[in-house]
Amino acid sequence: MLDADKMTRIAIDRVAAALDAEVVALLKEDSVVRCLGFQPDSLPVKLLRTAASVRFSEVDAPGIGPAHSVSAAVSAAGCRLVVMRAADPFDKEEEMLIRSMAKALGLAMTATDRLTESRELAERLSERQYLGDRLSLIQQSISHRAPLQEVMDSITQGGAELLGVDVVGLRIVGLGERSGPIASLAGFQGDGLEAFRDIPLHQGFSGRAFLEGELVSTHDFSAEFEQVGLVPQIGIEAAMAAPVQHDGRIVGILNVASRVSGRQFTPAEQEVLLRLADHASLAVTDAEAVHVLRDSLEGERFKAGHDALTALPNRSSVLEMIEYELRGATSMTPLCVLYVDVDRFKLLNDMHGHFFGDLVLVEVANRLRSTVREEDLVGRLAGDEFVVVAPGISGQAAEALAERIVQTMSEPLLIQGRSTQVTLSVGVAESLPSLTSESLLSNADVAMYRAKTNGRDSVVRYDTQMREEMFQRADLEHEITLGLKAGEFVPFFQPSVDLATERIDSLEALVRWNHPTRGELSPAAFLELAEETGLIIELDKQVLDEACRRLAGWTQTNPELTLSVNLSVRHFANTDIVDFVAATLAKHRLHGSRLWLEITESMVMANNAMTLDILRSLRSLGVRFMVDDFGTGYSSLVYLKRYPIDALKVDREFVDGLGVDLEDEAIVTAIIRLAEALGHEVIAEGVETEVQKNWLLEAGCLQAQGFLFSKPLSGDDLDLVLLSSTGMDSGLI
Ligand code: C2E
Ligand code: MG
Ligand code: MG
Repeated sequence: MLDADKMTRIAIDRVAAALDAEVVALLKEDSVVRCLGFQPDSLPVKLLRTAASVRFSEVDAPGIGPAHSVSAAVSAAGCRLVVMRAADPFDKEEEMLIRSMAKALGLAMTATDRLTESRELAERLSERQYLGDRLSLIQQSISHRAPLQEVMDSITQGGAELLGVDVVGLRIVGLGERSGPIASLAGFQGDGLEAFRDIPLHQGFSGRAFLEGELVSTHDFSAEFEQVGLVPQIGIEAAMAAPVQHDGRIVGILNVASRVSGRQFTPAEQEVLLRLADHASLAVTDAEAVHVLRDSLEGERFKAGHDALTALPNRSSVLEMIEYELRGATSMTPLCVLYVDVDRFKLLNDMHGHFFGDLVLVEVANRLRSTVREEDLVGRLAGDEFVVVAPGISGQAAEALAERIVQTMSEPLLIQGRSTQVTLSVGVAESLPSLTSESLLSNADVAMYRAKTNGRDSVVRYDTQMREEMFQRADLEHEITLGLKAGEFVPFFQPSVDLATERIDSLEALVRWNHPTRGELSPAAFLELAEETGLIIELDKQVLDEACRRLAGWTQTNPELTLSVNLSVRHFANTDIVDFVAATLAKHRLHGSRLWLEITESMVMANNAMTLDILRSLRSLGVRFMVDDFGTGYSSLVYLKRYPIDALKVDREFVDGLGVDLEDEAIVTAIIRLAEALGHEVIAEGVETEVQKNWLLEAGCLQAQGFLFSKPLSGDDLDLVLLSSTGMDSGLI
């Protein structure tokens, strides 16, 4: 016979073994129901009670010494499970394990309680000895943990005998992911079991019991609803059906049928059917409890709730955890969620392959785990998105935690012997009474998104305005689309000069937006969004076309003048750009050698065959390539050898310090030497002072661009400049 005692003992032993715990106790209200780890005559009841009243505590346990304690609610009324361990504190995953075991124990105890009730009922019905015997037989098979199928068979057989009917059927839907539907049929000869099992619960006469949630009975079956499955073959006259329940929902049906004409089921017989259906419910609940307990012990549940790569809890576990913590959150002890995203992860993946990317994610997971507090949970939502659930701290403290997380990445990762720099963007959101787990997570996501747009490698705390701003970005995107259609994006031109003669030798096209209401906008106002949304592709094409048109016009007076156009990384996803450049050059009757394309380091570093293909095809048109903002991107220089590069443009950041900052000077000197050695041209951008200019000349940099010579000018303004400087020696304003 199953008794609660035996069951809790088994569960408690298993919890202790699985967690290496010295003490495991089950308390009901204030009394200790069962305890492993202390002698029964010297139970520290007070200590156990205190430990049961809080989720975590540090205790001094008699005979054990200082120990860590975790307690979890057992869903059966008023019970709590307490687990103590002297060695390591329990981590989040162990705590989740304890909770799922407590839940399983609760389910099993519910079943036990109800079994006791049924036993009492069987005793009350003892005047009807036969029924009592039959029920206790079924109870025994449940309590002996017979497989559910066996228990169901004993119910249907019992039903056939007790009620003297021709057929008894019992169907239970598949519970959880582990099993399909199961069925048992008694009194029916033939192989109709499978067909019977697959009849949907809501169908036919017995479906009424499912839909109405109570017993249904008829003595005129043919007048009832459509007949399904086996029914027409066996000439049913009277029938009854009762629902089987688990965890508050209907999961099965027990139905009986009689071929005896004029048979009417009495209230007593109806009561018997209800009792049997109750036992079926009990068997299901018990079987589920066993499954949950076994799963949590054997790691099935662990696998289902965890990400295979990093072994971190997955999205559904994270949401479950947030939900759980939200219940305990108050304004005094709020809950914070940190949404953590690896910056430019896709690029890393593309550059070094997915295996490398996976190793990066594992390493990020390890760093996150070692940075958070003991009570925090780290999970992985998908791809390069991680989450930290941090209970009991305010947004400000969570922000500090997020800063620590960002900081742990300042040390490069060593992946496959390669030192790799990774940065993180983190969004922080705090619980509010009205928030669900999903919406709290979504707020953190919005904040993370903001951290990205702020330039990555940073922490942003959610505020309600952020959603508003997201909408504004959506509006801006729409406006850019309209602006592109209306031709509002036009190139300005910034000359670059030969430093020795200060003659203009090239023009860089820099886009400006003639916005219908906000006037002339520079790229900072829209470029990033255009890049993100892919609208940059169309924008670059318009700029290239108009810039080439202008260049063709200036060619009359300045046949040597070249044009330089910035290209977004987006163009390197397919070969369209090659055809477009070829067609544009042809349209404006320009030779490819008049055109420079400016690309960035990260672009060429996206090491795929396509990039090389595109660069080579363009090169075959005579087009040349310049690495823009040189020195600020990735540090590998391999690409300088691998790709057809013709010039390096020294970033403004380094030019800034020329004449004043020794480090900047050292860097610029190195870049100039590097360019020389590789046979590339070198050009300095952002030159603003005579000091910088003279320094560059002396260092051997022959070309420069910057406000010292000219700001970017509209095509019309440049017309005038170029006209007035046909001698080209005073072509600067
Ligand atoms: P960039 O290609 O590095 O362009 C140089 C930027 O520095 C330009 O800003 C230019 O106005 C500014 N600049 C030039 N000389 C000086 C100087 O002496 N001092 C200072 N403080 N700034 C100087 P702009 O026009 O705002 O462009 C910013 C960036 O936007 C460009 O950087 C380029 O990456 C991008 N961009 C501009 N036009 C296009 C375009 O048509 N397509 C694409 N894909 N990107 C573009
Ligand atoms: Mg540029
Ligand atoms: Mg630049």
